[in-house]
Amino acid sequence: MALIVHKYGGTSMGSTERIANVARRVAKWARAGHQMVVVPSAMSGETNRLLALAKELAPGKPATPYYRELDMLASTGEQASSALLAIALQAEGMEAVSYAGWQVPIKTSSAYTKARIDSIDDQRVRADLNAGKVVIITGFQGVDEGGNITTLGRGGSDTSAVAVAAALKADECLIYTDVDGVYTTDPRIVPEARRLQTVSFEEMLEMASLGSKVLQIRSVEFAGKYKVPMRVLSSFTAWDIDITEEAKSGTLITFEEDDQMEQAVVSGIAFNRDEAKISVLGVPDKPGIAFQILGAVAEANIEVDMIIQNVSKDGKTDFSFTVHRNEYARTIDLLKDRVAPALGATDVLGDPKICKVSIVGIGMRSHVGVASKMFRVLSEEGINIQMISTSEIKTSVVIDEKYMELAVRALHRAFDLDQVVAA
Ligand code: ADP
Ligand code: ASP
Ligand code: MG
Repeated sequence: MALIVHKYGGTSMGSTERIANVARRVAKWARAGHQMVVVPSAMSGETNRLLALAKELAPGKPATPYYRELDMLASTGEQASSALLAIALQAEGMEAVSYAGWQVPIKTSSAYTKARIDSIDDQRVRADLNAGKVVIITGFQGVDEGGNITTLGRGGSDTSAVAVAAALKADECLIYTDVDGVYTTDPRIVPEARRLQTVSFEEMLEMASLGSKVLQIRSVEFAGKYKVPMRVLSSFTAWDIDITEEAKSGTLITFEEDDQMEQAVVSGIAFNRDEAKISVLGVPDKPGIAFQILGAVAEANIEVDMIIQNVSKDGKTDFSFTVHRNEYARTIDLLKDRVAPALGATDVLGDPKICKVSIVGIGMRSHVGVASKMFRVLSEEGINIQMISTSEIKTSVVIDEKYMELAVRALHRAFDLDQVVAA
C-alpha cells in the first residue's frame, strides 16, 4: 500500500462530468489499496473570472488590503472544486472529506498573491487516511500567521500538491493535466514537440523558471528539496485504464542523471512573454551605479531578471534589465521620478513587447558551441538578439515578441527536438 498524491489542474476539473471522471479515477487508485490525497485546482476559467470581477470594481492602484481580498476571493475557486470532488467521490461510494488550506492548516508567509508555504500540519489528514478516507486538499492556498487566507501565485496548485506530498512523505506525486507529460516545448506552439519520458530535475527547474507553465517553479523546487517522486501525466485518458500502465505513463522527473542514455544536448525550449525591458541611458560609469539603479528597484519589491551594462563611452554607459511586465509601468515611473535625476542619467526607455526564448539541457555542460548555434539559427531567421544570458545548462535570449513563435520553431528544428526518441 502506498500513499499517493494526485493533483488535477483546472481543465481536468472543468465540468461536473470531468469531476465525476476524476472521482472515478481516484476511486480506482483507492480501491487498488492506496491511501489517496487529492489536490484540485479551481474549475478552468474560475480564477480568471474572480480576479476580473475584482478588477472591475477597483481598476486603480492596488495596495496590501486589496491583495488580501484578492486572495480571499481567488481561494474560493479551489474550495468549490474540492467540495465538488468530495461529493463526487461520495457518490462513487467512497468516504471522502475536503479541507481548505486553513483547515489543514497549510501555513504560509503573508505575501498575498504570492505566498510561500512554511509548514503543513499532517495530523488531521493522516487521521482521515488511517480511517480509510480519501482526503481532498484545496490547491493554491494557505493561511498566514494572522489567520488570513493567502494564495501561492498563478499555477500554485502544483506547489500545494508537491508540498503536501513532501509533508506526508508520499510515495509519489502525480500531476494530472491536459497534456500527457512534459514536452520538448509547449505543444500548443510547436505541434512537432515530443513528450519526454523522463526529464531531470535540474532541467525541469530551468524550464519552469524560464516560462514553461506546465509546472509552477516552486513545485519543482519543493520536489528537489524533499526528493518527492513526481510525474506529469494526462487526466484525459479513460479513467479505467490499467493502473500499472497509468503509473508508468507521462513524464517522470528524475533526480539522477541516467548515463546509460545518450544525453540530448538540448532537451527543451522554453519561452516567456511576461517580461519587459528597461534601459537607463547615459549614466556615469563609476562604482555603485548598478546598486543605485537596482537597489531602488529591489526596495520597491520589483524582481529583476536579466541585466546588461554596456561598455562606456566618454565616461557614460547604458544599463538595461528586464522585469515582469506587470511591474513595467511602476519601474519606469520609479526610475524617471527618483533614480535618473539623482544619477544624472539622460533618459529612461522601455519596451514591454519583448520575449525571452531559452534552450535548456544538461547535455550543454559537455558540449561547446551550443549557444553559438542558437545565435546562428536566430540570425538566419533575421531575428535580432537584444540580450543574452547563459548558465551551465541554459542559454536565454531576449528578442522582439513578434518573432517568438518563429524563433521557438526554428530552434526546435535546429536542435533536432522533433527527432528525439523519448528515452
Ligand atoms: P493545469 O491546469 O493542469 O495546471 P496548465 O495550463 O497550468 O495546466 O499547464 C499545462 C499546459 O502547459 C499545457 O496545456 C501546455 O500548453 C503548457 N506547456 C508549456 N510548456 C510545456 C511543455 N514543455 N510541455 C508540456 N506542456 C507545456
Ligand atoms: N487556480 C489557480 C490558477 O488558476 C491555481 C492553479 O490552477 O494551479 O492560477
Ligand atoms: Mg498549472
